[in-house]
Amino acid sequence: MTSTAPGLASGLAERAMHAARAHRAADPDGFHRRHDDPDRWNRWARRARVARTIAAALQVGVDRVLVTDDPHREYRTRTGPVPGDLITITDPSTGRLWRFIPDFTTPGDGWLLLGRCPGCEAEVPITRVALLADLGEYLDRDHDIHVADEARDESLHEPGCAFGLPTVGD
Ligand SMILES: [Zn+2]
Repeated sequence: MTSTAPGLASGLAERAMHAARAHRAADPDGFHRRHDDPDRWNRWARRARVARTIAAALQVGVDRVLVTDDPHREYRTRTGPVPGDLITITDPSTGRLWRFIPDFTTPGDGWLLLGRCPGCEAEVPITRVALLADLGEYLDRDHDIHVADEARDESLHEPGCAFGLPTVGD
C-alpha cells in the first residue's frame, strides 16, 4: 500500500486498478490464489469484511488495511485449522506499520495490537483495541511495562524472557 494512492476524486477504474496492484505487490500468494477453491474465496471475502470493520473502528481508509495469513496463529474451522488473520495498517501520514490480530474473546469486534515485548523484542499482543480511543489511551499513558494477557504464553517469547509464562491447562 503505497502513499501515492489515487484520491477519492479519481475515477473508480483508476482506484480499482491501483488497489489490485497494491494487493498483488503486498500479498502475491493470497491475491493470485483467491479464486482457487471456495474455501479460499470465502477467506478472501471474510478478510475483506475484517478490513472494512477495523478501518471504520480506527478511522483509516480501507485501502490502508491489508489482511494476510498470520504466520504464528491458526484459526480452527470445521474443516480443520486455517491460517489466522494478520492485519497490517499502513499509516498514510507517517508510513508506520501497525499490526493487529483478531481478539476472539471480545463479543463485538475487537483486536489486539501487536508490539515488541519489552523483555525479548518478540512481537506479542500488547493491548486490546475496539476503538481509536483505546489505541490513543494506550499510546498516551506513562507506561508501566505492560503486555496483554494473551502475550504471556511463553511460546511467543525468546527462551528465558521474564514476560513469558508456561501455559497453564490448555
Ligand atoms: Zn518476551
